[in-house]
Amino acid sequence: MNAPAPVITNAHTHLELTRLASLCPSEPVEFTRWIHELIRARAGETRADVYRSVEAGIEELLACGTTHVGDITATWLSVEPLLESGLRGIVWLEVLGLNRAEALERLERAKQAILAARRHPAYGPMRVGLTIHAPYSCHPDLFREGAAWCREAQVSLCIHLAESPAEVEWLTRRSGPFLRLLQKLGVPVPPAPGLRPVPYLRSLGVLEARPLLVHMVQVTDEEIRMVADAGCAVVHCPRSNYLLNCGRMPLEKYLAAGVPVYLGTDSRASSPSLNVREEAAFARQWHGDRVPENLWEVIVSRPL
Ligand SMILES: [Zn+2]
Repeated sequence: MNAPAPVITNAHTHLELTRLASLCPSEPVEFTRWIHELIRARAGETRADVYRSVEAGIEELLACGTTHVGDITATWLSVEPLLESGLRGIVWLEVLGLNRAEALERLERAKQAILAARRHPAYGPMRVGLTIHAPYSCHPDLFREGAAWCREAQVSLCIHLAESPAEVEWLTRRSGPFLRLLQKLGVPVPPAPGLRPVPYLRSLGVLEARPLLVHMVQVTDEEIRMVADAGCAVVHCPRSNYLLNCGRMPLEKYLAAGVPVYLGTDSRASSPSLNVREEAAFARQWHGDRVPENLWEVIVSRPL
């Protein structure tokens, strides 16, 4: 009898960005400048472009032995190819928007799409969840209502959180690079919650849905405690954090607090590959002896 294949989990990708590998910086760049370039690059893409990206991403994941993936899809077009890929894990439909009415309308459509996906014959090993993109791109009511629904309907929720210093500045003071980006994009600026990322989501009741929190670099010790108390897991994407100048995640503090940690490569637009073992090699260098030597094997083989 053959031994079961080892689990190799890449817990954070955006496979639909695979064709945008030219956006991946070779040296660290300012985070919001990279986001602006990404928005511009995506503006003219067709459905065929997106499908090509997803297929290329799936191929790359399979070629390096990945068995489980956590993928975010803003177009929602990754769902079908992932359900049929033989990969396991979760694909999260992304919703965002600072305009309340538009954001909630998009949420309604996402709910229907998620429930419909459960009827797909290949649903099970690959599940479908909801992503509410990030605090700088989403109206607070989208967080409130989306998280409440996920909790009630038992749907997996994933959020990009506490990634860059710019996000903290935006939430606490409505100033800095995000203000300049939104002004450039012509998006109306909502009032500042005056809270840092983790307390902000807690104030909206979002942590009660036990979201999977991606990045989580900009955190205090007390905020790590909040995440641990809420029973949330986090995803670490070190190469993306390094290249987008977001800083080093205090991984050793999450481990000490008992927070489950996954490793993810993020998309090819901010990471040189979708190979989570290469991510682990970079992380090993970056964190050095702050974390145990055998940690990486444990993290990479944790199924999603
Ligand atoms: Zn991401």
